[in-house]
Amino acid sequence: MAKEVALTETQKEIFDKISKNDVDGLKAALSQHKTTINFVDENETTPLQHACYKGNKEAVQMLLDMGAEVTLSKHNGNYTCLHFAALSGKPEVCLQVLEAGIDPNVLNVVNRTAAQMAAFVNNHACVATINNFIPKSNLEYFTTVQTGQTESILPPEILEKFHKFVIEITLHPVRVALNLQKHSLLKYLPKARVALQKMTELEMKKSDANELMALKYHYLGWIVGELIKSEEHIKSRKDSEESKSNFLELFIKRALKLDKTGKQDYIEWTIKDCIREFPYRETAIFRQIIAMFDRKDAEPAESILRTAINGQRGFINEIVNCSTCGEEKPGKKCSKCKEVQYCDRECQRLHWFVHKKMCARPISTSNSNSSAKTQLNQQEISEEVSMHLSSLQV
Ligand SMILES: [Zn+2]
Ligand SMILES: [Zn+2]
Repeated sequence: MAKEVALTETQKEIFDKISKNDVDGLKAALSQHKTTINFVDENETTPLQHACYKGNKEAVQMLLDMGAEVTLSKHNGNYTCLHFAALSGKPEVCLQVLEAGIDPNVLNVVNRTAAQMAAFVNNHACVATINNFIPKSNLEYFTTVQTGQTESILPPEILEKFHKFVIEITLHPVRVALNLQKHSLLKYLPKARVALQKMTELEMKKSDANELMALKYHYLGWIVGELIKSEEHIKSRKDSEESKSNFLELFIKRALKLDKTGKQDYIEWTIKDCIREFPYRETAIFRQIIAMFDRKDAEPAESILRTAINGQRGFINEIVNCSTCGEEKPGKKCSKCKEVQYCDRECQRLHWFVHKKMCARPISTSNSNSSAKTQLNQQEISEEVSMHLSSLQV
């Protein structure tokens, strides 16, 4: 039941600007507002909850900066900020309130968590964001010197970056590798691998162990290990210093390369090896995945792993993934054939050595020399790509 509440003109203005997604107007209204921002409207909903429901990242940030309490909930359906953010379909807003300390396990009046509400309305990215989240403080163990040790597992200055890496949701090996680069962790691979192995172990020791997250940490540690191998391999070669620093590119090429049957066989077997090495073989998740690998009509291993950790997707045919890194809803497509999609130019560049052979309109026949195949040198690739990318379309 809606309650009679006497809102001041400024308070009404704040709700009004939020409902219209008018960020500048909200800013002006907030500058006029001198008391607490934790008031409610007739449905006992706070401005922060409204902004979450609108999925407006800027408005949410402004309200948080003004001291809006993320855990405050008087809402008559017992919806938290996270329930509202989950319904908005904006994973970045879910992340904002999770980072601000909301408890994802709170139930609303119909006994649903925020992740369940998001699943109910098919906001899958929100479900994955909530389920993959852990508070940064959970990782402080790794940046603190433990008794009997002389140094912490991870240097304290990378806590923030490592946390961001761990809560990422896309599991494709290329995306994991690119995320390590994005979060400036490529220099810390051996330490990151140790931390991820320990995280797997600590997760399984908990009384309420989350097997899915334990498996995810094991998998991330595995991919980090594969990158370390790639780095060692390139160092052992008598290449120039420049190419030695490019072990990431070597790893990605290996992952994207197709075998004779047109499959990414490295991704297939490394994921299978990784799962088979999972130390907790009595878990339901381990047995379930192994059974799926063994099926006659088995999906690719990458898809089995993704579904096992992040859940079954609705409307699967409508989902488009980046051809390089598996990220969902990539924003760009190849301007020549319009058949493949990418996150950005970097993803397109990385995929070009494969895609050039099937792109509908090759730029120039002289470049499609069959003997070149995947052995094209770096300079040729960048020349071709710079031509081909000039008309990337959203
Ligand atoms: Zn991508
Ligand atoms: Zn193309």
